Amino acid sequence: MSVTDNLLAVRAALPAGVILVAVSKTHPAEAIAEAYAAGQRVFGESRPQEMKAKYEALPKDIEWHMIGHLQTNKVKYIAPFVAMVHSADSARLLDTIDREAAKCGRVIDVLLEIHVAEEESKSGWSMSELADYLAGGAWRGLRNVRFRGVMCIATNTDDEWRVRRDFETLMQYKAQLAAYFDDGFDTVSMGMSDDYPLAVECGSTMVRVGSRIFGERDYGGKQ
Ligand SMILES: *Cc1c(COP(=O)(O)O)cnc(C)c1O
Repeated sequence: MSVTDNLLAVRAALPAGVILVAVSKTHPAEAIAEAYAAGQRVFGESRPQEMKAKYEALPKDIEWHMIGHLQTNKVKYIAPFVAMVHSADSARLLDTIDREAAKCGRVIDVLLEIHVAEEESKSGWSMSELADYLAGGAWRGLRNVRFRGVMCIATNTDDEWRVRRDFETLMQYKAQLAAYFDDGFDTVSMGMSDDYPLAVECGSTMVRVGSRIFGERDYGGKQ
């Protein structure tokens, strides 16, 4: 199966209205160009410098989504062009995105990454930290970020019950948080290659699919 075949198969299985983020991290610009030729315009990356290099090499109507953990000192690399940051997981990061976006005269869409998985190591806000942050109100002064919704990475397990529970938890949190925001708070980013059909069943509006489209990743021993 080619990238094109894989992409079309994934897309055919998604209901209308669910956005596909094709996760191209570690894959070369040529693979992205193939998906682009098949009509894909939204791509996800997890390293700022890699995203920037691909942005420079590829057509400018691509929407780039940052899905991996983002360090504050790297926001500057992507602020001029990134369409959405899925991994907004701290007040400091949100402040930095706001500041860097302002320098570029832009407003950047962000999702609040929430920790729902069993593993302690996974990133994201706990609901109590996030509730404190939102109640504090300082975020209302961020003029150059737009809060668009929530994101999670489910527990890495074959236990479908557990994964479903993670997705349902995120849906409940999103409903609770919506009270703080206007109508634009409508995105639920959940579901990856192994669990996106389940995520869609649970209410996902945006799935992040990598290996099922581009094949297995080779981190060159770096990760
Ligand atoms: C790598 C990655 C994905 C895609 O994973 P696949 O299993 O290859 O689909 C999705 N979301 C995040 C946050 C990732 O880091």
